[in-house]
Amino acid sequence: MRAGQKIKEILKTSPTGQLVTVMGWVRTFRNNQFIALNDGSTNNNLQIVVDFAATPEITLKRITTGAALRATGTLIASLGKGQTVELKADTIEIVGDSDPEKYPLQPKKHSLEFLREIAHLRFRTNTFGAVFRLRNSLAFAVHTFFNERGFVYMHTPIITSSDAEGAGEMFRVTNLDITNPPKDSEGQIDYKQDFFGKSTNLTVSGQLEGELAAMAFSDIYTFGPTFRAENSNTARHLAEFWMIEPEMAFCDIHDNMNLAEEMLQYLIAHVLQNNKEDLEFLSNRLEEEEKQKPQNERSELSLLHKLQFCLDNKFERVTYSQAIEILRESNHNKKKKFQYLVDKWGVDLQSEHERYLVEKHFKKPVILIDYPKEIKSFYMRQNEDGKTVAAMDILFPGIGEIVGGSQREERLDKLELRMKEMGIPAEDLSWYLDTRRFGSCPHAGFGLGFERLVLFVTGMTNIRDVIPFPRTPKNCEF
Ligand code: ATP
Ligand code: MN
Repeated sequence: MRAGQKIKEILKTSPTGQLVTVMGWVRTFRNNQFIALNDGSTNNNLQIVVDFAATPEITLKRITTGAALRATGTLIASLGKGQTVELKADTIEIVGDSDPEKYPLQPKKHSLEFLREIAHLRFRTNTFGAVFRLRNSLAFAVHTFFNERGFVYMHTPIITSSDAEGAGEMFRVTNLDITNPPKDSEGQIDYKQDFFGKSTNLTVSGQLEGELAAMAFSDIYTFGPTFRAENSNTARHLAEFWMIEPEMAFCDIHDNMNLAEEMLQYLIAHVLQNNKEDLEFLSNRLEEEEKQKPQNERSELSLLHKLQFCLDNKFERVTYSQAIEILRESNHNKKKKFQYLVDKWGVDLQSEHERYLVEKHFKKPVILIDYPKEIKSFYMRQNEDGKTVAAMDILFPGIGEIVGGSQREERLDKLELRMKEMGIPAEDLSWYLDTRRFGSCPHAGFGLGFERLVLFVTGMTNIRDVIPFPRTPKNCEF
């Protein structure tokens, strides 16, 4: 079957009359003569010229939008505009028919909402072709980045019994009969009879296990699926998303920030270099979309400029306390334009505040550090002031939080005390505390939400459009 060539490669060659075979799906068929064929290797179609006088009527009828076909012929210079080469077909074989009356994708512009409903077919559009090739490229670059720096890729468990992380609501994993679960003597569901002999969940983060590995390999990273049953129906939250979590031993919050910044810039530089065509397509797409908006809501930078901007500017490092001051003194706050007004130190920042800091005040990516300990997790390292912890969030324009991380509390006594204050039973995490008992050392790490990165890089606005099959509240199709 194979022995064909990718259209992306063919479009790069010079036409010397060589014989080639291609396979792909018909995007359009004009004048019973010109097929635009796409095989997903690029958004650019290969034009196939059909000799309609020599082609049986019945074959011509079957060349419809969506049909799969294989064509063999000679590669010649194209006279038409928009391409340098085209294929003069000798044979055309219909591999799979597509009824044009029923095929949901017509050669016209469809809304993203409509395409979300037919996510099984949306890969065949230019927009999603570009988005998912970029997603692939970014995933590949994540592994390259860490491997070049000697990090060990660690697979942390997906099913877990640790429920102390507190990062979000969890999905329970069970094979008990939910209509008639076994009960214990107190009338509670008896998880001792469950598959694992205890209550288990899908992981909300691989961090705690990642820390265990970092205490042996020095530098590790995870890259895997993460699950949160948070009922927040936003354009930035999924119930199933992919997270990248590096963890480094002998590393403080500043090394951590530097690594995160270096990684983000590396990933952006990688796609600017390797995915220019798809980025240009998405940049143009976004510009068209911006034109629909009122002048004052349009973004000042094109997608390509925005990405370049992130490479040319060092991320601004700001403490939580400084951020609160900026927000409190802002005209936005004084004119009550925030939904949640910023009045006192200690409040958690809402995404409107994060976006104000990034988009209006600093106008570049911002790293916020030293958050109040009350609004952060138990494992974050306590600062000398007794009020804040060495946490860091990286905020991106249009996205808000893209990375969340911290230096971890490596001092056993301080960690145990904080757990007690927060009501986290030490018995449940004795394995975690062991790292602080045996060869503890300063260490730090962060989590990058992969889809938030893909959102930023592609300029898409809804996180449902950058993962192939999104899982969100009341939605689990495919
Ligand atoms: P947010 O405040 O945006 O909900 P968070 O504080 O819950 O984020 P963390 O627990 O620090 O986030 O998770 C690390 C990273 O994972 C975040 O910076 C973000 O990029 C990503 N992330 C978190 N929750 C989701 C989600 N539901 N869907 C997609 N990505 C997410
Ligand atoms: Mn969250």
